[in-house]
Amino acid sequence: MKACVINDSGVLETVQRPEPRAARDVVKVQILIAPMCTEFKELRAGKAQEVLGHEAAGVVVDAAGSERVREGDRVVVMPGNACGVCGMCVAGEHIYCANQRHVLAETASDFGLATYAEYIVKPDRLLFRIPPDVSMLHASLACCGLGPSLNALGRMRARAGDTLLVSGCGPVGLGAVVNAVARSLRVIALEPTPYRADLARRLGAGEVLDPRSTDVDEEVRLLTGGRGADCAIETSGVRDAAGRLAALLRPLGRMALLAWDVPVELPPLVPLGIEVDGCWHWNHERDGRVMWETIRGSESALAEMVTHLFTLEDAGMAMTLQETGNCGKVVLCPDGPASLTDVLEH
Ligand SMILES: [Zn+2]
Ligand SMILES: [Zn+2]
Repeated sequence: MKACVINDSGVLETVQRPEPRAARDVVKVQILIAPMCTEFKELRAGKAQEVLGHEAAGVVVDAAGSERVREGDRVVVMPGNACGVCGMCVAGEHIYCANQRHVLAETASDFGLATYAEYIVKPDRLLFRIPPDVSMLHASLACCGLGPSLNALGRMRARAGDTLLVSGCGPVGLGAVVNAVARSLRVIALEPTPYRADLARRLGAGEVLDPRSTDVDEEVRLLTGGRGADCAIETSGVRDAAGRLAALLRPLGRMALLAWDVPVELPPLVPLGIEVDGCWHWNHERDGRVMWETIRGSESALAEMVTHLFTLEDAGMAMTLQETGNCGKVVLCPDGPASLTDVLEH
């Protein structure tokens, strides 16, 4: 099968790798959509990577001994290979599982952990079945595109009518706009790139401000009647962004941090009673119904949010595009150009 790797010279290339095998509850999925996340930063770093990508949607092609899925099921593939039995896994918080399974050894496969590939193997518990009325393309956003911000809005107990600040309108921030608009929140987005600011507006952000402007604090005050925002989601990863956001919240405001692995500096939170959550991924067992409702109700926004589709062979071009910031969510179609129309229609 085809797969994308970063070779020893730090170059992205499409290579041939053996297809993985299914065994017991570890099933084989044909990947039809692989949403691109931050892998372009790995290419920028120039470090060799055999396993690229952690988001996918596709079809179960070998269900082995699974009692949860069958061949032909359309599924979203969750990241990692959580054990399925620890306290975190039982609670559906598989992303925090400390006992990852070695599914290649379990299935006697040589390759099959990457989503920038035609096939992957996955414990069946980490497959999220797609309802028949939801397209494969939109379902694929039930990973990093919509997952972390759906989790964040729940954790922050955000309600219709609340004013939400969304800091950074990359794919995760754009997903936050979609989730917020679906819940009738009022969104003020902070985004410097004109392309993404415009896209955030099209997805329903009421205002988009340039966070580099010296007036941004004053503008947020004016837009919230001097009160400050009810809640905020930080996705930009800019070092001082979390601190600046915290200062724009009302007393007892709530903030969620979604940028991965970024050190944050916060002002004193106690005087204002501000809550801060770190949100990584989401709980599909607990919040799956809300996710499908959001996707069903946001079809036109999601059609705008996914701005580009590429084949696996063109992943390098896709990453060059991601570096410019002139894109929303970019997805790969490992099954090739023939499947592009199919993917858009189903
Ligand atoms: Zn991701
Ligand atoms: Zn576990």
